[in-house]
Amino acid sequence: MSSPRDPLERPAPVGKVRAAAPIVVRCPCGTETRATAGQVVRCPGCGARYDTEEQARMLNTAAALAQRRFKLLGRVGVGVVGLLGLLALSQFGPYAMLGVAVAAGALWYGVVMRWLKKRTIDGTVERFTATVEPKRR
Ligand SMILES: [Zn+2]
Repeated sequence: MSSPRDPLERPAPVGKVRAAAPIVVRCPCGTETRATAGQVVRCPGCGARYDTEEQARMLNTAAALAQRRFKLLGRVGVGVVGLLGLLALSQFGPYAMLGVAVAAGALWYGVVMRWLKKRTIDGTVERFTATVEPKRR
């Protein structure tokens, strides 16, 4: 329960809050409270109450969108790797194709997509924490 979960690793069912995303509620009184999206948070500084249910839903929607984008990126990766492999095959033969395909695959899935994923998660959480609206008591 305490391990941080990757909201992009699992499907986000529409209308149901499932992702345990860490968020920060910024209260106008200057207190920042750490919480999990979907929780009802009470500001320890002034007692204001924040329902993050809607934010959790928004985050899930964002995660679902990102997930779709990554699925697409995965398919694009197959195309790119295949294309590079074919190019290498036509220019340098089957061994070059194998080498290029492995290298391009590792680069795409191990570096590019990982980086994009991390960037997307950071961006999502940042946008998200910025939109928590104060709901008084
Ligand atoms: Zn407060």
